[in-house]
Amino acid sequence: MLEWLIVGGGVHGTHVSRVLRHRLGVADDDLLIVDDAPAPLAAWQRRAEACGMDYLRSPQAHHLGLRSDALRRFADTVRLDGPAFIDPYQRPALALFDAHCRQLITDEPAHLRARERVTRIEPQAGGYRVWGRERSWWSRRVLLAPGPPAPDRPDWAAGVPHVFDHDFAMPDGDGEGNVAIIGGGITAGQLALCLIARGRSVNLVTRRRLRRSDFDANPCYAGPRCLVPFAAADWRQRRRRIQVARHPGTLPRDVATGLQRAIRRGALHLHVGSAMGLDDRGVVLADRRTVPADELVVATGFTDRLPGSQLISQLIRELAPPLTPCGFPAPQPDLQWRPGLYVTGRLAEMELGPMAGNIRGARLAGERLAAASAELTVSPPVPGRAMADSRLPVV
Ligand SMILES: Cc1cc2nc3c(=O)[nH]c(=O)nc-3n(C[C@H](O)[C@H](O)[C@H](O)COP(=O)(O)OP(=O)(O)OC[C@H]3O[C@@H](n4cnc5c(N)ncnc54)[C@H](O)[C@@H]3O)c2cc1C
Repeated sequence: MLEWLIVGGGVHGTHVSRVLRHRLGVADDDLLIVDDAPAPLAAWQRRAEACGMDYLRSPQAHHLGLRSDALRRFADTVRLDGPAFIDPYQRPALALFDAHCRQLITDEPAHLRARERVTRIEPQAGGYRVWGRERSWWSRRVLLAPGPPAPDRPDWAAGVPHVFDHDFAMPDGDGEGNVAIIGGGITAGQLALCLIARGRSVNLVTRRRLRRSDFDANPCYAGPRCLVPFAAADWRQRRRRIQVARHPGTLPRDVATGLQRAIRRGALHLHVGSAMGLDDRGVVLADRRTVPADELVVATGFTDRLPGSQLISQLIRELAPPLTPCGFPAPQPDLQWRPGLYVTGRLAEMELGPMAGNIRGARLAGERLAAASAELTVSPPVPGRAMADSRLPVV
């Protein structure tokens, strides 16, 4: 029997696995990360590459290492083509962040990760049976880290490539004609700048004028100043706070400035309006204008729905774990959704707040588990035990 099995070896699964191994002393033989991706952090890298990201949006303290200054110290040991960090907030270069991730996982034994899609989880004698397509495992505790929800795609754009599709291919730099991008957030902005740098002319279709925001959520939720009152609020208030704190469809200042410059020199054409469909010339807006599109990409982020698709639906259907009024997991402060079953990422947002899905959210999850470690190592969870008395670490 494993002590811990993590479903999803991306940003969250990888960071929490390091907390378990290096902070909580979980032995490598007692831990398994199950992920269907071909390599650790492959989903993160695929999405970053798809939108031509150069610098993260988050500051240098948000990384997958254990020490808060780990990325800064690592930066002193590597050579990069450009600056390691950019202001404001010392945002790290993607190349630096990825090199740091690669360095962190060099200490993983090969048997720490299994490549499988988890299709089903069921309780079994003091733990859970976790089913992949071809094998299964028995673990005392399971952490669900399946990543973000599905890409958000307008109904009219069913067959149009989305930048977060698994098989998305960046339009060719040598391609003829213009590329139209639907979306006004950082992904659409980065993709537009990347294509312009490759010599393409871009039409950017946004519902609203471009809006600037350094962060995708109020940074107050990175720490106790906002998270403590958040934890004191009821589920409905928490959902409202999350909605207010998040800034979807916004651009950090470097991307916003880059787009404005591109507009001034004629490489980018901004069309403010609601895209409603396609005709043979391009994208049709609600006011009947048509935006020419020789190639088209949707970059409208992710839905607000539950991540984890069928696996999470199966768990909800069969195990009836507690849900908030908006249908999201209602975990305990130690992130247990039901005894021995833990959540992180967007699945844990009703506990970890608006930054739950971000790198900071992974670190918050690690801190919650570390704070609850005494309980985790001393008394294994017993299915059915009342959870109200579990220790309540506050970040
Ligand atoms: C382009 C982009 C830029 C971003 N930039 C930043 C940033 O600068 N700062 C920041 O803090 N956040 C950023 N984020 C947000 C967030 O940090 C990333 O989305 C991050 O990848 C989330 O980590 P995760 O572990 O939840 O998901 P992922 O990294 O996607 O990992 C989830 C893994 O779980 C696997 N999986 C899912 N279901 C199963 C299953 N049933 N069985 C087996 N495996 C499964 C997936 O294959 C995947 O490998 C960015 C997001 C995007 C898309």
